Amino acid sequence: MKLFSFSFFLVFISINLVAQKPSSYCGTSVETQAFMIEQSRKTSKVITDSRAPIFIPMQVHSVGSDVGGGHFRLHYIYDALCNLNKDYAPSGIQFFLENDINYINSSSWNTHEYDAGEEMMRKNNKANVANSYIVADPAGNCGYFSPRGNAVALAKSCIGDGDHTWAHEMGHFFSLPHTFFGWEGIRYDQSKTINEWQRQVFTTIEQKQRANCNNQADGYCDTPPDYLSYRWECDRSNNSIVQHKDVNDSTFYADGSLFMSYSNDHCSSRFAEDQMEGMRQNIAGSRSNLIRNNVIPVYISNLNYNNILPVDSGNIKGKNVTLTWDPIPGASRYIIDIARNTSFGLYPQQFITSDNFVKIDSLNAGTRYFWKVRAVNNYDFCGAKTKTLTFKTETITATNNFESSTLNVYPNPIQQNELLMISYERNSDIKKISISNLNNQSIIEQEITDSNSEFTKLDVKKLLPGIYKLNIHSSTSLISKKIIVQ
Ligand SMILES: [Zn+2]
Repeated sequence: MKLFSFSFFLVFISINLVAQKPSSYCGTSVETQAFMIEQSRKTSKVITDSRAPIFIPMQVHSVGSDVGGGHFRLHYIYDALCNLNKDYAPSGIQFFLENDINYINSSSWNTHEYDAGEEMMRKNNKANVANSYIVADPAGNCGYFSPRGNAVALAKSCIGDGDHTWAHEMGHFFSLPHTFFGWEGIRYDQSKTINEWQRQVFTTIEQKQRANCNNQADGYCDTPPDYLSYRWECDRSNNSIVQHKDVNDSTFYADGSLFMSYSNDHCSSRFAEDQMEGMRQNIAGSRSNLIRNNVIPVYISNLNYNNILPVDSGNIKGKNVTLTWDPIPGASRYIIDIARNTSFGLYPQQFITSDNFVKIDSLNAGTRYFWKVRAVNNYDFCGAKTKTLTFKTETITATNNFESSTLNVYPNPIQQNELLMISYERNSDIKKISISNLNNQSIIEQEITDSNSEFTKLDVKKLLPGIYKLNIHSSTSLISKKIIVQ
């Protein structure tokens, strides 16, 4: 059994601190993109089966602080991988994990500038795979592709649900430029004529009329012209609010549905056909070392969990629990999160196991716990997830070894000539029974030596009529009852 336990309390705090997204979306340089455009123009095209699946091994590096805090939670990494493969599904390119996630503890790489990022990549890259680094701050961006580091760096705050940063940066990794290539660092508006803007733009400004689109901007003819090099909001059709005007005074709006534009994440959902073919050409050519031919992916099709224990919303006795469920076909590992609140931020613990159960000890008494489990494998990152389940540990009372409710004293009131009968459960750990006055002066004492006994009889002839205390002593506690002698 493979079982790891991480305490992610520090992670939660640092996730909150970096939740704000960086102001810059992408740090992939203009020079890098210009070089990639040049390369793809020079490279002769290979014929590829345009929809045959291509499996690319992805090495994920999770970077945290020097003391191991701030790692992106494993659930989030799998969510991000799940989204990445969804974004790439139309291209036929799919990523899989050839090796486990590589955990790196380095504060200076977790928050880095480009030079340190490149050093991080050179020192940690695995050979012949695509390397991605998940960090807190990749040089002030949501992400970037470094050609010299030959890897992408991604901000934890930019690869959550609904984000497409990873798809965008892998687009660069596979040679795609921005759709607005040439406009980097320029804030377009219509206050200047396009001829005035041309002096600042690094390439021929792309026109609405697609006569020479192969040699304009990103070089792709099915990505419409786009002059917006800053993050922008789209309308309901995913087009820019900002109107563009080209050299012919033709007006148009930028297409925000493309991952390689700078539209906000909710606008983008696709690569253009030519971009997908461009990536496939790049893989067939300069990135052919990533191709794996005999990959047989396994997908998790049964998403339903059966026989989950403990029963949802139930109570458990004691401080230990075994969380268990029926095995999910195709799952190679289960990720289990448990915490004391539904957002899994309060005292969170995470377990990874190949078994269909996990044993957790040292729970707190009288506490509600929330947990969930996710089945994954190295191809299926979306996997099968449970909803958030809950159980409560029962309150443990002070450890009386006998319950006062099981104790019977009679008759009470009692006559001086009667015997006082005290009955209790067998093995109650009672050591001594005594009777004292209300000033706690002991008058009668009797040791209990036989643990199998179930009752004791006391002669009360010594007691004058009045009120007394009957004391039952165990090894750990004392229970007193009032008796009246008549
Ligand atoms: Zn970019």
